[in-house]
Amino acid sequence: MNDCLFCKIAAGLIPSDKVYEDEKTLAFRDIDPKAPTHILVIPKPHIKSLAEITDYDIAAHIIRVINQLSVSLGLKEGFRVVVNTGRDGGQTVGHLHFHLMGGRAMGWPPG
Ligand code: AMP
Ligand code: ZN
Repeated sequence: MNDCLFCKIAAGLIPSDKVYEDEKTLAFRDIDPKAPTHILVIPKPHIKSLAEITDYDIAAHIIRVINQLSVSLGLKEGFRVVVNTGRDGGQTVGHLHFHLMGGRAMGWPPG
């Protein structure tokens, strides 16, 4: 096992507040939520960031999972998906993750 936090969460070595799982992805609640609903959706295999994707099918699959979660979590007024990428993008965990946030109106532009 590498030293990646989200690989350890995907492997069940570190606990998470899981809301969805399938063979390719895991979705769990962010430990420091920025919205009433704040979910992280990750691929189970280690991919460092959006910029490192080579298998674009996983991205399409994650978007499907996000849309399904938006329904099951009742985000009928809308939601925001954020993928911080790299240093300037503000990425702090080096395992690709899609933030799914909702339950309040979002501001724009982001910081
Ligand atoms: P980012 O800054 O885009 O890389 O997002 C990383 C996110 O991971 C932040 O929103 C953190 O609050 C969240 N996070 C860090 N550690 C954990 C953890 N153990 N369980 C759930 N979320 C976490
Ligand atoms: Zn990882």
